[in-house]
Amino acid sequence: MSRTRELIELSERRSAHNYHPLPVVVREARGAWVTDVEGRRYLDCLAGYSSLNFGHGNPKILQAAQEQLQRVTLTSRAFFHDQFAAFCQGLADLCGKDMVLPMNTGAEAVETAIKVARKWGYEVKGVAPGQANIVVMEDNFHGRTTTIVSFSTDPDARDGFGPATPGFTIVKYGSAEAIREAIDDNTVAVLIEPIQGEAGVLVPPSGYLREVREICTEANVLLIADEIQSGLGRTGDTFACDHEGVVPDMYVLGKALGGGVVPVSAVAADAGVLGVIRPGQHGSTFGGNPLACAVGNAVIELLGTGEYQAAARQLGTILHERLRALIGPVGQGGHGVVAVRGRGLWAGVDIDPSLGTGRQVCEALMRRGVLVKDTHGSTIRFAPPLVISEEDLNWAVDQLVAVLAEL
Ligand code: PLP
Repeated sequence: MSRTRELIELSERRSAHNYHPLPVVVREARGAWVTDVEGRRYLDCLAGYSSLNFGHGNPKILQAAQEQLQRVTLTSRAFFHDQFAAFCQGLADLCGKDMVLPMNTGAEAVETAIKVARKWGYEVKGVAPGQANIVVMEDNFHGRTTTIVSFSTDPDARDGFGPATPGFTIVKYGSAEAIREAIDDNTVAVLIEPIQGEAGVLVPPSGYLREVREICTEANVLLIADEIQSGLGRTGDTFACDHEGVVPDMYVLGKALGGGVVPVSAVAADAGVLGVIRPGQHGSTFGGNPLACAVGNAVIELLGTGEYQAAARQLGTILHERLRALIGPVGQGGHGVVAVRGRGLWAGVDIDPSLGTGRQVCEALMRRGVLVKDTHGSTIRFAPPLVISEEDLNWAVDQLVAVLAEL
């Protein structure tokens, strides 16, 4: 039996089946490339769902982590440590906000944003106790906790995990009017992904985010942008909100903030919002730990150069041009791609379902040395590390063209 089969069989036997991974067992990785246990190399075009924006084993991030590993890795928040202040200041400045609250995973940061918004609603806005409501979007993805899946519209994510947490109103994504209508005196926040990643890289209509910003300001409602997947360079700007010049009241960050090394997440907001949280009301043993902050500081420094945002912009133009050229039926000038969406180095590609499933396309791409993942049946996502070379990016698209021709 091959080492790959052996390890997959053992994994399947001894782990819960909450994922359906492609049959590749990775042993090591550098930059945009990973190597499996058989020594085969693959171009990583998923980048840990945008957690590896700076590439696998980025030297600056690894150096920061290694130095910190030798000094101190955990204090808990019972004490201060010497990486904390710089991380909080650096991240707050990157977001243009007064302060941050660090956690670990994305879902924890979303939970934090929900708690902060509710408390702000009661203490600042004057909402009656227990009545706070948050407007969320159809097809959202914000994580897997019981409260977050309570307002998911994906039956797989939600069904069987009730009772649902109340206090959320779901409206159509992309319609500012729907948000305006859903807001009432008890609304404390609108929680939104500036681009919906898990839904298939759905980009809302131009002007939408700006209108949502205006609605929130008028109604005294917090605009919370979940930039966990869209933020930190992926779309060609530091934040996806930047494309519309929109500044939310609260940023929710995760994934790439941990440099692909450790889970690091945070919310960033002004003191008038985050100041509602006082000692004993929220926290996490590992949130803001020294290793996480050292890695986070390296990530903030990398983003400060603007190089990664520029790479995402420049390579993103090439990626989208090439993918758009595949749209159209096979034999009529197209390659069986129905639609292409996205921004920067991030694309959702809908394959004509009559040709095959997204899963089949991903498996065929894997055999050709490209790793991507399907979502919602016939959509595949491209989100390579922002350090990918132009040559490799073109090669990845060439492999997609070859796979589509073989279907
Ligand atoms: N929010 C968004 C927009 C995401 O894309 C994700 C993960 O895919 C999350 C939240 C949840 O993050 P985590 O898996 O780290 O809990």
